[in-house]
Amino acid sequence: MRSISKFSMGIGDRFGMEGVAQLRAFQAALDRGVTITPVWNKSNREHSLIGTLPEDVRSEADTAVARCQWPGDHFVDADHIGLGTVDKFLVASDFFTIDVADAIGKPASGEAIAAYTAAMLPFLGALRIPGVAAPLSVTHASLTEIATKYLFAVEEAGRVYRHIAQSKGEGNFVTEVSFDEAQTPQTPAELFFILAAAARERIPVATVAPKFTGEFLKGIDYVGDIGRFTQEFEEDLAVLAFARKTFALPEGLKLSIHSGSDKFSLYPIMHQAIMKADAGLHLKTAGTTWLEEVIGLAAAGGDGLAFAKALYREAYGRYDDMAKPYLTVIAIDRQALPTPAEVDGWSAEAYVAALAHDQACPRFSIHFRQMVHISFRLAAEQRPRYLALLEANRASIEAHVFDNILKRHIEPLFLRIGV
Ligand SMILES: [Zn+2]
Repeated sequence: MRSISKFSMGIGDRFGMEGVAQLRAFQAALDRGVTITPVWNKSNREHSLIGTLPEDVRSEADTAVARCQWPGDHFVDADHIGLGTVDKFLVASDFFTIDVADAIGKPASGEAIAAYTAAMLPFLGALRIPGVAAPLSVTHASLTEIATKYLFAVEEAGRVYRHIAQSKGEGNFVTEVSFDEAQTPQTPAELFFILAAAARERIPVATVAPKFTGEFLKGIDYVGDIGRFTQEFEEDLAVLAFARKTFALPEGLKLSIHSGSDKFSLYPIMHQAIMKADAGLHLKTAGTTWLEEVIGLAAAGGDGLAFAKALYREAYGRYDDMAKPYLTVIAIDRQALPTPAEVDGWSAEAYVAALAHDQACPRFSIHFRQMVHISFRLAAEQRPRYLALLEANRASIEAHVFDNILKRHIEPLFLRIGV
């Protein structure tokens, strides 16, 4: 049975050019004694916006692994797929993120709900889960409510899982089930009974992505109540450990955090919690490697800086078009954006200072950063020119990509350096 190591991290690379630079960051962690499995993730949405195929990600990943002589496992994640979108990922992917958030609240059949709630009767009363402060109060009514809300979604995950298994063979891929795009966070009780339902569907769930309180916007830090997040995260770790034993779920079952990248205020908290609980973790990031490419180009000055400025001018003029696929995962104040004329007047240093995610820098702008982040399609529209610029500035771009993965993500989350 294919399984994934205790720590793993999803990396995103819009143009497939930075596989080696990213993998070197994982090698640096390995040199320090910590194995983190790299997972190249790209969603169907991203593939269609940029005109790439799952096979492109597979070839980038395999090429990087061969070139770096990476000694461990690596995976290619079909990110946020469902029955309607999974087929084109079946050959290239060996990690599948089954997204059933849209199925939440759709009713399962009366018989299915009755059978499920009957099977859950042993948990009626005050359910004590080690690591969860208050016992969970489980009643007939609460069981029916959870079943009505989530059972159909888990059944749907089962249908998608069996469809994948039919094609790839059971045990040949890693399965994630994601609820992170749900409307509301799942309570500990909901997560526990969702995992029970997944076990009954015989889904060998390796990673599960719940929705947490607060906002996980693309490329910027967490927005929300850190105290509440900490409690939810610790309780979810406890629920997973307990559910794993209770329902004989896979040994390595762990949380997957769809971080949107750069959740600097949460990494130390997550680090402490996983060390305390001796738990694993999968951290998905959001393709901000693309921003490191723009930073590398801007820093180079000359044609690179001119491209970065022209890109911003175009993005600014096509704001609605750029923002449309991302409205729920960005928070751009258009009034706070610099005008293209202002940006045209910037030096290389000024452009980099506005874009690079250094919260202590007074010139850093989360609005400018998000705007550039969602505008990768504009580089795809001039792909040959963009790729030529990436080639011409290889060394500086790779240094930015490597530093971003290692110093901003791996070190604070998995190695606890720089917090
Ligand atoms: Zn997600």
